[in-house]
Amino acid sequence: MGQATCRACGAPILWIKTRAGKSMPCDAKPQSYVESPGGPQKIVTAAGDVISCNLVEVHQSNKRGYVPHWATCPNADSFRRK
Ligand SMILES: [Zn+2]
Repeated sequence: MGQATCRACGAPILWIKTRAGKSMPCDAKPQSYVESPGGPQKIVTAAGDVISCNLVEVHQSNKRGYVPHWATCPNADSFRRK
């Protein structure tokens, strides 16, 4: 994992290498989640697994992962090539 800063919004991000070998920019702050096949959200674990999930409050789960930054970046358009 590499710490970095989002070029679009200046937020602290982590580059996490997924098991597919792709580096994903994720929010540096861990989020709690519960696994949910086909769930609405994606989370990347520190080990590089990309999991469908529901994000929950910290007391509702002891699982932590990282949300792909493009899901939360206020300037996410810069991640998407038109
Ligand atoms: Zn950003």
